[in-house]
Amino acid sequence: MTPSAEMITMNLTLNNGVQLPALGFGVFQTPPEETVQAVEHALRTGYRHIDTAAAYGNEREVGEGIRRSGLDRDEVFIETKIWISDYGYDTTLHAFDKSAGKLGVDRIDLLILHQALPSRFDLTVEAYRALEQLQADGKVRAIGVSNFMREHLDELLGKTTVVPAVNQIEVHPYFKQPDVLAADTEHEILSQAWSPIGGITFYQEGQGGSVLDDPTVTRISSAHGKSPAQVMLRWHLQQGRSAIPKSVKPARIEENFDVFDFALTDAELAALDGLHRGVRRGPEPADITLESFGREIPEA
Ligand code: NDP
Repeated sequence: MTPSAEMITMNLTLNNGVQLPALGFGVFQTPPEETVQAVEHALRTGYRHIDTAAAYGNEREVGEGIRRSGLDRDEVFIETKIWISDYGYDTTLHAFDKSAGKLGVDRIDLLILHQALPSRFDLTVEAYRALEQLQADGKVRAIGVSNFMREHLDELLGKTTVVPAVNQIEVHPYFKQPDVLAADTEHEILSQAWSPIGGITFYQEGQGGSVLDDPTVTRISSAHGKSPAQVMLRWHLQQGRSAIPKSVKPARIEENFDVFDFALTDAELAALDGLHRGVRRGPEPADITLESFGREIPEA
């Protein structure tokens, strides 16, 4: 059954019992000089979950935006990611110190590995063991991964103890990754959609056009008097995913949070599912290597 608007809760419960606000706010490609204002505006709008990454170069400004919002630290769920150059047990423990130092916090709510390193899976496992230790020490409340395919999850689960709470992956109507979503579900890992409104289909050169202009999406948005972005966010939420849309524009930050007063029908959800083209727009996970993607993450 499709849940009604009222049935959608704002929080999702992770596999370790921690509550995650389903709709978060992303800051990939948000320049540091715009990040404080964007994060502060998002929090004043009602978002209570910010997704950043060591590799985004704006953790310091995310921390400042949170402080300027006037909210207590405990009211905001902070998610960040360890970059591949910091994989390795001790290096990843230190990467926590770098991120926490820049954010200005002593505890991170959700700390995830940004990518699998298929050619150095030993380093990926070492990094994940460091996350397990940080969780055991109470320095992070939940741990997880990003861009892990089914085979990466299987290998990780075979070599570590804590099942990731979250797998953050590219999901929008043009690329749904059904097999990874299924693998996540099988392991009780929450799927979290990056580029949830298909940002990567229009901010990056490539084939296929923008999902924001897709006729099926615009037909459904017209039927509800909502925007294409709002329809896609609703699709994620009704299918049980977390979503983390990004914007630097105050009106869009508000628009993307205004998704709790309508519900898509089963037919509309199925029509959106039917747009899947099977073409990845982000980097191919198998191609992620230290040689091609490595870069130094500065100290705090
Ligand atoms: P999104 O799907 O969130 O789209 C963002 C783009 O859409 C921006 O160009 C933004 O421009 C524009 N936009 C935002 N709101 C609207 C709207 N209502 N109508 C029309 N356009 C809009 O893509 P992202 O790739 O940014 O993904 C979201 C977040 O996911 C990132 O910020 C990051 O936190 C995470 N992410 C993680 C990755 C990973 O590897 N783990 C990879 C990529 C993203 P403007 O700012 O000008 O409004």
